[in-house]
This record gives sequence, C-alpha cells and structure tokens, in this order.
Amino acid sequence: MRPIAAVLERIDAAKLNDHMTALASFGSRDVRHPNHAKAVAYLKEQLGAIPGLVVQSHRAAYNGIPLENIFAIADPFTQPGPTGWVMICAHYDSISNRSPGWNPATSDAPGADDNGTGTAALLEYARLLAQERASLRQRVVLAFFDGEELFFKGSAAYLGTLPEPKPYAAVINIDMVGFNPLADRLDLIWYTNGSAGLRDRMIAANDRYQIGVSPLLPQLATSGATILDAAPFGLAGIPSIAIVQRYGENDSTFPGNYTFHTVNDTPDKITNKRLWLKATKLALATALELAR
Ligand SMILES: [Zn+2]
Repeated sequence: MRPIAAVLERIDAAKLNDHMTALASFGSRDVRHPNHAKAVAYLKEQLGAIPGLVVQSHRAAYNGIPLENIFAIADPFTQPGPTGWVMICAHYDSISNRSPGWNPATSDAPGADDNGTGTAALLEYARLLAQERASLRQRVVLAFFDGEELFFKGSAAYLGTLPEPKPYAAVINIDMVGFNPLADRLDLIWYTNGSAGLRDRMIAANDRYQIGVSPLLPQLATSGATILDAAPFGLAGIPSIAIVQRYGENDSTFPGNYTFHTVNDTPDKITNKRLWLKATKLALATALELAR
C-alpha cells in the first residue's frame, strides 16, 4: 500500500490549475446561467475518463431551478459496508451577486476561488483515488454539489435522500482555498460535538504529514449561517468539517477576498497556490486516514 504521505506527493499542482482555469473559462456556473451546463459537461467528461470510478448524478430542484449534484465513487475491492463512508465535497456552482447590476442569467460569475479551487481539488482526488482503490476499506464519495450559492440547496437535497442509519462517517468540505496572499491560513469549521473528533483528526493530520497550513483556526458553527456544504450534514449530526478562507475575522493573516461573489473572482486572483496545494493535501490526508 502506498503510504498516505506518498499519495499526497502525487497531487499535481499543474492539473489543479488547469481544472480551475477551465471551470472559470465558462464565464459563469450560476445555476440560472446557460453556461452552467458547460461545467456539468466538463465534470462528467473529466470523471468519465478515469478508469475504476463510478460516476452518478443526483438531480434536484429549488424554486423551479434544476440542480445537478455529481458523484464520483471510489469503492474498495471488497464490498463496501452500509455505513462508514467518507465524503469529500465541494460546490461547483458560482455566483456574482456582489457585482453591481448583476444578472444571474447573463452576468459573469467565474468563481475561480469560489469554488474553482475546491472543485479542482476533487477532480485531482478522483484521478488519485482511482489508483488507490485497492487500499480502501471504506467507500469514498467525491461530491460535486450544485446550488450551494443558494444556501447549500444541492447538498441539503442529497442529505434528504440518505437512508437511516446514514451511511457517512465523515464529511470533509473544501471551499475557497487559493486567494490568501498573506499567510497559509485556513479556517476549520466544525459542527456540534459530533464533529469534534473529525476536527482533531484534521489538525493532527496537518502536523503528522507536515502539510503546514498555519494558522489552522477551528471555529464552531452552530447554524447554517456559514453557507457551506458541510452545514446540512454537520447540523444533522454527521461528523462534518470544512476548510475555507472566508469565515474568520479579517486580520494580519487574511485580508478577505475582495473578489468574493463578484465578476472579478478570476484565475489571476488565485495568488496563493502554495496554500491551495496544502489545503488539497490536508483534506485528502484526513479522508484517507478514515477510509483505509
Ligand atoms: Zn463557496
């Protein structure tokens, strides 16, 4: 079995950048924009080209707007159990409602940082996990959620389809991780006491694999106000965490991403690719520790 540290070294920063640039190039991934379909096609094309992955769609609707969650599943060669699954998730939709005169159907919403960075990480996990399937004891689900910018409607709809007992032992969310020009800082959002163990496991993984996210700032979220795909799962009692640049107070380690939810969230604003790579390693290391 390839050691986790060796799997982390296989993450290809050039591939991350290619995926993020491609996703931003569609102009908008807003669920009300016609080019949203181009993002769906891109994800399916990329995932479909990877041998050994199962790709599934889950369709939902919100206020008459169709949503499509896309899943890439890496299963162990032994039959996966009904519980103990590990999810890594990122939303691929975008929005630019902070830009003046914004029109969801026609305005740009490139979403390079939010959340081209996280979506690209998931695409890279798909490539790598397909090669690590034989080492997995648990099913790993890569969830590309839609409608997050409408208050996590895609992930919440998916949560509603899960049987009891819920199959997931952990949900790890990655959202906006490439902007911060000041420090390799991430906020680590966690939900209820049920998520504390997962939070501590990620903090330990940051040290054990010398990933170097610093500071890594735990923050308890007691509601969905953080607007992250981890929220519906965490508030439902599933151990859930999110790594994100966005929710701490702006301070000397983070100036705030001034392009957030604007037409200016473009690839040239991804100014900390080292942080992006660290975040990508951190979520994968945590997931692999749980799934092996
Ligand atoms: Zn986001």
